[in-house]
Amino acid sequence: MEAQLPPASGSSTRSTDRHTAAVVHQIFSTAIASLSSSAEEMTFPTHAGGSASSPDAAISLEGMRCSSSSRFRVALIAPHPDDFDILAATMALFAEHPGGCDIRVCVLSCGSGVEDSFCTETRGVEPTPQAIRKIRRGEQQAGCNFFEEKYPGSVTLKFLELEESGAPDYAYATRGQTLLTPVNFDAFALYLSEVDPDVVMLPAVYETLPAAEPSPMPGGPGNAGHYRCGKLVEEALRRSGRPTALLQHGDPKTVSMRHDLFTPYDAETREWKAEMLRLHESQHVRNLETRGVGFDSRILAPELVNAKELAGARWEVWVAKGVAGVEVFQLDFVNC
Ligand SMILES: [Zn+2]
Repeated sequence: MEAQLPPASGSSTRSTDRHTAAVVHQIFSTAIASLSSSAEEMTFPTHAGGSASSPDAAISLEGMRCSSSSRFRVALIAPHPDDFDILAATMALFAEHPGGCDIRVCVLSCGSGVEDSFCTETRGVEPTPQAIRKIRRGEQQAGCNFFEEKYPGSVTLKFLELEESGAPDYAYATRGQTLLTPVNFDAFALYLSEVDPDVVMLPAVYETLPAAEPSPMPGGPGNAGHYRCGKLVEEALRRSGRPTALLQHGDPKTVSMRHDLFTPYDAETREWKAEMLRLHESQHVRNLETRGVGFDSRILAPELVNAKELAGARWEVWVAKGVAGVEVFQLDFVNC
């Protein structure tokens, strides 16, 4: 299989045959394989995808498998419970990796996103920090259990329980987000050094590392938890110095990012993922009440829009091939 992969370095990685989603996936796996095998060879351009709308593009869901033979380790850093489930299709690709893949999921904080009314009316508990964390931990565990029904033993889930915002009033809008305290920086750096991943995944927080954009918070668009997650990752990688592929993924709150790589999924996967997302009941109820759509649609609808944008004039072909959405990523290499 290795011999069929495109070369991982040099200008040839942008040759004209790199147009199909399957080939983009090969690039993805090649990038990861090269990362696992030899740090010196990591000269892979950061813009890997982007030509999916070539007139000759033809994608095959059959071909979308990571095809390298290197076992690698992925750390998905989830600022909140549910940031793993949002990437269910990509995590499935990792889980199916023929060479084996360790998926480490690290949830930073669990105290946000649950409204008082959900605690009292749906769960019959007072909205204390402990009760809210218990609710969201339970939902994340349920999501991982659901994933592991299909991919047994694939995920190692860790709740880091970092110091969170909340005091003094414990208001819904500001509580439960990871704080950028020295204790948290140390705790997260220790976690990442122990996992020692080849690939770090996190929600999109800024354009590129290490030149982070100014914080989108407070007051501006964006997501404080996601932004702070980026700062923790940035500092941990600075301390470790380890060459690492960084994949930032898009979600409905993403301010801006490149779409370098994407994971297309079909309708069957879409329904599987939707069921997984609905296990986050606190988020599902809140989205239904405040946005008029469920948490599943909140995530999946923009992924359909992204698929159409990536396909461009080829959208009908993509539809015929069974594409029902894409998970999008910005790929950067850090410490390389
Ligand atoms: Zn999040």
